[in-house]
Amino acid sequence: MSLDGNYDPDNIFAKILRGDMPCVKIYEDDEVLSFMDVFPQSDGHTLVIPKRPSRNLLDTNPEVLSGLIQKTQIIAQAIKSSLKPDGIIITQFNGAPAGQTVFHLHFHIIPRYENSKLSSHAHGQMAEMDHLSGLAAKIKAALK
Ligand code: AMP
Repeated sequence: MSLDGNYDPDNIFAKILRGDMPCVKIYEDDEVLSFMDVFPQSDGHTLVIPKRPSRNLLDTNPEVLSGLIQKTQIIAQAIKSSLKPDGIIITQFNGAPAGQTVFHLHFHIIPRYENSKLSSHAHGQMAEMDHLSGLAAKIKAALK
């Protein structure tokens, strides 16, 4: 999947947005959905996606992008206060050669903890749902 091409309405995140696939939700409004990454690179790895379809950052409506990054900041602040990481990576990949594996725009929020190794991107182990739900509950409480 290169940078160009049509949006695939059957990508995993489109299915999550339609409710055809489950997710461990953190936040939702009319424009944005945020949920736990099921192959987390670290404890609290969270995704933030726009509801409006686009493949990557380059083909996204600028207003959608503005709203998305603002929500990403708010959710990152909630992760900071709830999970108390020592650092936070915020990242985003465009095109398969850049590391993108799901072709619906998303930001990754990846907390970093001193002395804790980062799992590899998109090749990690699937997390236990109970564990993800516990982390999501803490982040959601900090969003209120
Ligand atoms: P990227 O490689 O930047 O496109 O990121 C896609 C991310 O989605 C990876 O970090 C995957 O672990 C994550 N992912 C894949 N399937 C799911 C799913 N069903 N629910 C939550 N996260 C997912």
